[in-house]
Amino acid sequence: MSDPVTNNPDVRMRGFTSRSLVEDVLAWVDEHAQRLPAESVELAKASGRMLAEDIIATHDVPPFDRASMDGYALQGNATDGAGDYNPLEFRLLGESMPGNAFAGKLETGTAIRIMTGAPVPLGADAVVPAEYATESNGVVRITTSVSPGKHIGRIGEDVQAGSVILNAGRRLRPQDLGVLASVGVPRVTVTQRPAVRVIITGDELVLPGDPLGADCIFESNSFVLRSLIERDGGEVESMRRVRDDRKSIAEAMRDAGADVVLVSGGSSVGAEDHAPSILDDEGDLAIHGVAMRPSSPVGMGRIGETMVFLLPGNPVSCLCAYDFFAGRAIRLRGGRASDWPYPRLTATVERKIVSAIGRVDYCRVLLNDGRVVPLSTSGASILTSTTRADGFVIVSASSEGYAVGATVEVFLYDSSSA
Ligand code: AMP
Ligand code: MG
Repeated sequence: MSDPVTNNPDVRMRGFTSRSLVEDVLAWVDEHAQRLPAESVELAKASGRMLAEDIIATHDVPPFDRASMDGYALQGNATDGAGDYNPLEFRLLGESMPGNAFAGKLETGTAIRIMTGAPVPLGADAVVPAEYATESNGVVRITTSVSPGKHIGRIGEDVQAGSVILNAGRRLRPQDLGVLASVGVPRVTVTQRPAVRVIITGDELVLPGDPLGADCIFESNSFVLRSLIERDGGEVESMRRVRDDRKSIAEAMRDAGADVVLVSGGSSVGAEDHAPSILDDEGDLAIHGVAMRPSSPVGMGRIGETMVFLLPGNPVSCLCAYDFFAGRAIRLRGGRASDWPYPRLTATVERKIVSAIGRVDYCRVLLNDGRVVPLSTSGASILTSTTRADGFVIVSASSEGYAVGATVEVFLYDSSSA
């Protein structure tokens, strides 16, 4: 959003005169994060992808009645009264193996040897497990009775041809791939993965592994962002490390090939904060400055259909701004729900959580025996506040925080924190 007083998007060294409300920014994200088109992928590569079509089974599973035990197929009623002291005899006609059925038809008083997964022959309606049978000289002796249908997997009992087995919008689980394979599906139509470009700015940044020069720090945001992008179903199109100069940032921002661009650093109002004015030159800077803490210098906009997020360089701000806005856009564009993928629980506040009316707070918390304790070191540059924390609490703009004893919703960084 331009400075409302001067209508000048360049707020360098002047500061924000107003900040957008988080709810309005989320509405902007939802409006512009259009779902990408679908693509066809091999079943073997479809795990975790978002199904873009309903799947209707073209085959029954199983496709024929089959034995669910190794033993003897026969007519169940003919075994009435069979027991250890009353073995009943059946003439053995042959055998049915998986992939190699018995061709003939079974009559009363006869049985065939059958293995698990083999077709049940015509005329048979039950299987006596091998442990209740002894075979000699073409005769099988049965010592238990089985009712019709016993130990037979019926045609279509798992999947019926014509039924919808999976709905569009589902994130494919490993076992979903198994069901798809079981009905003979070789490829599925899934929503394209958003291609996400990450641009890391900052002349002071050095890659871990390289020597740390004077006045430099090790770069960390790229590692956090890459794993967040992958978590949210995006694909890192490229990771570009650029100098703090307008030309390099502009080139990296405008290059074709990304559905979402994330710029780390230089999003605020300092002399070296070029990203907002570059985005405004290259496309449209829709939002700059949001009423939240941390991450208030976040910006965003579009260049054509590409959504561009300007994330503050401070590591906690970068993580938080990604999670509030960029991650949501990546999830939506990739066909996922907009919700945070964090497990959540409700818990009681043990030490008060302080905020201010008018801004949203992202407050890192510990769970102490299930009660919520805010971390005291919570500056936007203290990244270990997010590694020591079990999760976070969001304080809305209309709240001054939470008193001891209040019940709050906690978002957990991982499911083992509870
Ligand atoms: P900036 O948003 O570029 O003004 O950076 C704000 C603070 O975050 C500065 O102390 C930077 O050195 C630091 N910073 C910026 N980018 C990164 C990064 N990729 N990794 C670690 N720290 C960073
Ligand atoms: Mg910087």
